[in-house]
Amino acid sequence: MRRTMTEQQLEQIAALRRENYPYSFIGRELGLSPNTVKSICQRKGFAASGARKTKAEKQNAPLCRYCHKPLPETKRRGALFCSDYCRTKWYRENRKVMAIRT
Ligand SMILES: [Zn+2]
Repeated sequence: MRRTMTEQQLEQIAALRRENYPYSFIGRELGLSPNTVKSICQRKGFAASGARKTKAEKQNAPLCRYCHKPLPETKRRGALFCSDYCRTKWYRENRKVMAIRT
């Protein structure tokens, strides 16, 4: 059965595509195949703008650790999350994992 995209996933794809991240990169971030990402972008008309990302840019992509959307320019310096909402959610979900490790 085909998994349906959530609104959140679509937003993530749109945001990443807008910054010209390649389909393969977006797929890896969101756990989708590059072909899935590609067909969504084409169907929804998510267009890329600006220059292609270099390898280094992809490796150091300033993405929110929780929602994987690109961080806003103003927050990029050392920030891990795009918003307090994401930070709170991430810590809440990872607290259990960290408790087991320690
Ligand atoms: Zn976020």
